[in-house]
Parts: sequence; structure tokens; C-alpha cells
Amino acid sequence: DTIMPFELPPLPYAKDALEPHIDATTMEIHHGRHHKAYVDNLNKALAGNPDWLKKPITDILKGINEVPATIRQAVINNGGGHHNHTLFWEAMGPKAGGEPTGPLAKAIDAAFESFAKFQEKLTAAGMTRFGSGWAWLYADQTGALKIGSTPNQDNPLMDLSEIKGYPLLGLDVWEHAYYLRYQNKRADYVDAWWNVANWAIIGARFDKAK
Ligand code: MN
Repeated sequence: DTIMPFELPPLPYAKDALEPHIDATTMEIHHGRHHKAYVDNLNKALAGNPDWLKKPITDILKGINEVPATIRQAVINNGGGHHNHTLFWEAMGPKAGGEPTGPLAKAIDAAFESFAKFQEKLTAAGMTRFGSGWAWLYADQTGALKIGSTPNQDNPLMDLSEIKGYPLLGLDVWEHAYYLRYQNKRADYVDAWWNVANWAIIGARFDKAK
């Protein structure tokens, strides 16, 4: 059997659909070059390892400590990069923003007191992540909602991650996510990002995590 390599998923909306909060050029480069490079380099890393190449990306990340040591860091960087960005595109949308509803809204209130306090805490996680990385809302192994951050392209699914659980929302705070429009002003990017948060999708991930 031929094993299909990983593929760059198409954006679920037009590259200018998130304007003015996320500009079209950033989307084009972020998706078409950065995410594509993660996919290409993941395929290269796994080319000689068909048993790993045929697994779903989430299984690869969950079992990252079992990946052969010679390619493990490449798979952490590029497998994480591939999955993190796939989640990121899905967690945004045009005519989005606002607040979650239903079970996720209730769980956020229970865990963080209010949506406003949740926003403050996730923003702080993104702002205090030094260098490149991600801020996360995730469900830990007991199902409790947590906020944290990871360096580089680490993902809470990885058994070597500082924070472990099921990722619901990942906010990309690499400079490549915001530099063209916001330059060094990460806080302005994070503020604007709430306007494109796709709570229907994030809420559906929460329903699946339970
Ligand atoms: Mn990115």
C-alpha cells in the first residue's frame, strides 16, 4: 500500500476573511509558507518510517517519546507545527468573536469566574510566553479547564509537554503570526484576536473532550 504523506489543509475561509484583525498577507504567508513548511518537513522526517507516517497526527504527538530519537526533535517541531496550525485556522472565523455559549460557557465561568477573567488569563499566558510559542485553553486529564502556554511548537497532547491535556484553543504568539500588521506589539494582536475567535468550533471541541 502507498502511504499518503501529510497534506496542508486548505484554509476554511478566504485569506482576507479575518480582516482587519488578521490581515490577508499574514494569513497567506502564515498558512501557505509557514504551515506548508511544517507539513513538508514532517513528511521528510518520517519518510523512512512508514509505521509512523501512517498514524494520525494526534497519535504521533501523544506518542512522541516513542518516535525514534534521531527524528524526534524534527517531529516535535514539525508535527507540532502542523497540528497546532490546523487547530488555529479552525479556531478562527469571519463574523466570529463574542463569547461562547452552552456547556463551554458554563465551564469557563466555573473554572475562571467569568469570561472576562478567562480572557485576562489567556492573554497573560500569551504575553508572558518569552520568545515563540502558544497560549492554550485545554482540558486536563481530569477534564478540568486549564490555561497555560508551551514553547516553540509543543502541544499539550505531547507526553513531554510542560502542560498536558486535550487542546481546545491554541493562540499562536510567534512573531510570524502578527509582525506584519502589529510589529512588536503582541498585546495589540492578542486584543484583536478575540474578534475572530470561533466559539462554535472551540465549543464543539470541548463537547468532544468530555
Ligand atoms: Mn504560526
